[in-house]
Amino acid sequence: AKGKGKNTYSVYDGGMEQGALAQLRLDNDLRRAIERNELRLAYQPIVNLGSHRVEGAEALLRWDHPELGAVPPAEFIPLAERSGLIVEIGQWVLNQACLQIKAWAEAGHTGIFVAVNVSARQIRRGLRAQVDTALALSGADPRMLEIEITEHSMVEDIASNVDQIAALGEMGIRVAVDDFGTGLSSLAYLKRLPINKLKIDRAFVKDLPHSRDDATIALAIISMAHSLELTVVAEGVETREQQDMLAAQGCDAAQGYLYSKPVAASEIGRLLAQETAA
Ligand code: C2E
Ligand code: CA
Ligand code: CA
Ligand code: CA
Repeated sequence: AKGKGKNTYSVYDGGMEQGALAQLRLDNDLRRAIERNELRLAYQPIVNLGSHRVEGAEALLRWDHPELGAVPPAEFIPLAERSGLIVEIGQWVLNQACLQIKAWAEAGHTGIFVAVNVSARQIRRGLRAQVDTALALSGADPRMLEIEITEHSMVEDIASNVDQIAALGEMGIRVAVDDFGTGLSSLAYLKRLPINKLKIDRAFVKDLPHSRDDATIALAIISMAHSLELTVVAEGVETREQQDMLAAQGCDAAQGYLYSKPVAASEIGRLLAQETAA
């Protein structure tokens, strides 16, 4: 494999291994990560800006490597996409997320959705079948599952993915466009696909409320989304000021460190129980 830039091997910084060898090892280790129970999902709450309640949670994959510790998804997911392992990992993620939907529903937290990130390769290889498997295995309500597809992967290969994504809509599953605004090469897919939600990328949130350009972009995305009858979530909300500005612009929901970092499912359960009691 060719060198992939400075970030790919940063887990080995200071170590003896480098480059292709390190990548090969990481790839090998990842192959065994599922059976060795090294993968887990963290959940980050998504807060409704009208009710100020948690309306759902995004499932974010975590890999606890026995020697290297936590390997960030930005490092191992691109690797898994290249090797094709993302298909197997993606099925595992969907299964876990659907089991969590079922568990929260059984704990009385009905109406709490779980958003799952999927890769372009995973969609192509049959996302519909994967979702079917996860729903059957868990008994989860399909309406509580949300699939996040990055704008980039949508534009990349719209023709071969359109059937897979359309099938999700027919199953009652919601589809969100992730990292929206970072790949504005074509908006045509918003019309062609059963999209329900846009997630404004953190790039447009992080300099709010001071950046006038970013405020203009956020407002434009929110207005466009609403006129297409889509809901809007802002990602990476870290301050009260960002939240208030986005709420004033009509943004429907927000997610970010202001509310919570990604945490264990049990933490989310605690949060939901507190809200119910309040
Ligand atoms: P993403 O889908 O855009 O997820 C949001 C990322 O922003 C997460 O990083 C989250 O921890 C981080 N984040 C959340 N709130 C804040 C905030 O207020 N400030 C800042 N600075 N960051 C915040 P994470 O968990 O490292 O995930 C990185 C990316 O890895 C995700 O970006 C997603 O594209 C990918 N990913 C994660 N889990 C999966 C998965 O199960 N499957 C696939 N295909 N990709 C995944
Ligand atoms: Ca996401
Ligand atoms: Ca995102
Ligand atoms: Ca992002």
